[in-house]
Amino acid sequence: MIAVVVVRDGVLPQGADEAAAECGGRVLLAGSGTVMAAEALATSLAGQVYLLELAATGFQPAHFAAAIAPHLAGEPHVVLPASADGRDLAPRLAALLRRPLHAGAIAVTPSRVDLARNGGTELHRATPAPEFLATLLPGVRGVTPCPGAEHTVEVLAPLPAAAAPAAGGPTDPTVVAVLPPDPATIDLSEAPRIVAAGAGLDGPERIPQLTAVGRAIGASMGATRVVTDRGWVPHARQIGTTGVVVDPSLYLAFGISGAVQHTSGLGTPAHTISVNTDAHCPMMQMADLAVVADANETLDHLERLLGRPAEGDAGTMQEGVA
Ligand SMILES: Cc1cc2nc3c(=O)[nH]c(=O)nc-3n(C[C@H](O)[C@H](O)[C@H](O)COP(=O)(O)OP(=O)(O)OC[C@H]3O[C@@H](n4cnc5c(N)ncnc54)[C@H](O)[C@@H]3O)c2cc1C
Repeated sequence: MIAVVVVRDGVLPQGADEAAAECGGRVLLAGSGTVMAAEALATSLAGQVYLLELAATGFQPAHFAAAIAPHLAGEPHVVLPASADGRDLAPRLAALLRRPLHAGAIAVTPSRVDLARNGGTELHRATPAPEFLATLLPGVRGVTPCPGAEHTVEVLAPLPAAAAPAAGGPTDPTVVAVLPPDPATIDLSEAPRIVAAGAGLDGPERIPQLTAVGRAIGASMGATRVVTDRGWVPHARQIGTTGVVVDPSLYLAFGISGAVQHTSGLGTPAHTISVNTDAHCPMMQMADLAVVADANETLDHLERLLGRPAEGDAGTMQEGVA
């Protein structure tokens, strides 16, 4: 198996390390800044890395698919992270390679693909064709960090014949501008920062307050099932086994006990902050900054400190907070 990961300016997308780990460390990094991306990957994973530098075109899925597909001719099982670019590239690659695509997998082997369906409430098990592609949902598999791991790196030369899609074939849209996502509306599973509401909050009016505090630090709002069951927050914002699986780098929990049904949907945040009156609950044990305090008063303080930014005015203090 081999993972295919789109790299933009040396930055790996969400789930890149998990896709690589699912393929035993074999990964093809394609895009701009692939050398830097390989170094970033080496901080957590040992493996066999192939670099395909496609800097000239930016990310253009049809061009990328045409350039990558010839390198996958001898690779029967290809896994892409189900990141935005991975989801964009996978169907084009599958069409060029004439193979089926299993989208939204949580586990992939050459003989079995487990797929999350109906918002993660159903597990579908597929027996794939001898050659196939799959996209792997970020935040589900996890990766056991392997600090100081070393890669073997091979630089692939772009094949001239594959530099552009075939005439009359699919074309790429013209990118006018790339706008940052709005934390208030971004799909939670893709949010890099999350502020989350638990039963320790004292009323539904805390939700707009938490959302505004989140907006000030470029974070999206999520919640526990207790909070969604109360109707304070739509179910789509529930994190956990019967909600959304997330994988933020920063997670701030306000009045959340840390039940396993909640934390199993959390991925592996680089930074976890918990505000709770109970210093010994699981969420406080998991946190690298545990604040023993009233979550409601803490929110009041944060609101005074950060102000209430208008909608769309996101992330003014982002860099300082992370
Ligand atoms: C089949 C099944 C599926 C489930 N799926 C999910 C799921 O997907 N997601 C999910 O979240 N849950 C899920 N649950 C529910 C889960 O078991 C927990 O009940 C839930 O996560 C608890 O939410 P909570 O932490 O908000 O509430 P609680 O467990 O009640 O915790 C509240 C916390 O707030 C603290 N607190 C109280 N007052 C304050 C205050 N003033 N300031 C600060 N802290 C305070 C308390 O010390 C406590 O730690 C599921 C349960 C089952 C049985």
